[in-house]
Amino acid sequence: YFVNQKQIETSHIVITGDDVHHIKNVMRLVPGDHIICCDGTGQEYLVRIEALDPEKVRGQIEETRRSKGEPAVSVTVSPALLKGDKLDWVLQKGTELGAVSFLPFTSQRTIVKLDGKKAVKRRERWQKIVKEAAEQSRRGRIPEVHPLSSWEGLLSQFTHYDRVLFAYEKGGQPLTQVLEPRRRDIRYLIVLGPEGGFSETEAEAAQAQGARIVGLGSRILRAETASLACLTSILFAHGE
Ligand code: SAM
Repeated sequence: YFVNQKQIETSHIVITGDDVHHIKNVMRLVPGDHIICCDGTGQEYLVRIEALDPEKVRGQIEETRRSKGEPAVSVTVSPALLKGDKLDWVLQKGTELGAVSFLPFTSQRTIVKLDGKKAVKRRERWQKIVKEAAEQSRRGRIPEVHPLSSWEGLLSQFTHYDRVLFAYEKGGQPLTQVLEPRRRDIRYLIVLGPEGGFSETEAEAAQAQGARIVGLGSRILRAETASLACLTSILFAHGE
């Protein structure tokens, strides 16, 4: 269960909200049972439940440790906005696999239009999906879902990462040549195009901005498959 700093006392944790229902009615836990709580920074707590009230669960912290569910390497997945609920799937599976954050964007060939209130609502949905997936796979932190970015906005973010990998369906360097598996705390940004792919102008602009153009093998993958294949390959190369 994810908790915020306000819910953590010196030796106790107080859980409120929807998680109370989950602990009592879904997991059917009772005093004496243990739960694991994460504070969202990669720290986790082994907690023994002491009391279950209708609106809160109070437990004693028995152990504090670094969460095993967090990879040392940081991969931010930047997928183009996709049709239907395909991006929901990328966010859910990407969280399970170990992405540190998501930076969705629109580009020349993006088909779906999403702005104003709709974009805010969609981001809320994505944040919920990511939180549930993080809990399910025992992550130590909830990946951040950044607001939907324009293509230009995305290019301006490149400087915040050690390595930007632009997955281009027309081919590029093999992934193995651009990874640095010995640098444990390296920050990668991986950029993946929409159903219609990237234009040549976009590939050139990304390269001019410092991205490495990479190929993901000899087959053209669906956009959502490409995101997860690229993420998994990086984590695997880093031993995560
Ligand atoms: N419609 C395009 C075509 O037929 O060439 C395919 C676009 S693909 C479905 C969507 C995105 O997935 C691409 O823009 C790219 O980022 C990524 N992708 C898919 N297969 C790839 C590959 N073999 N190498 C690198 N990137 C790939």
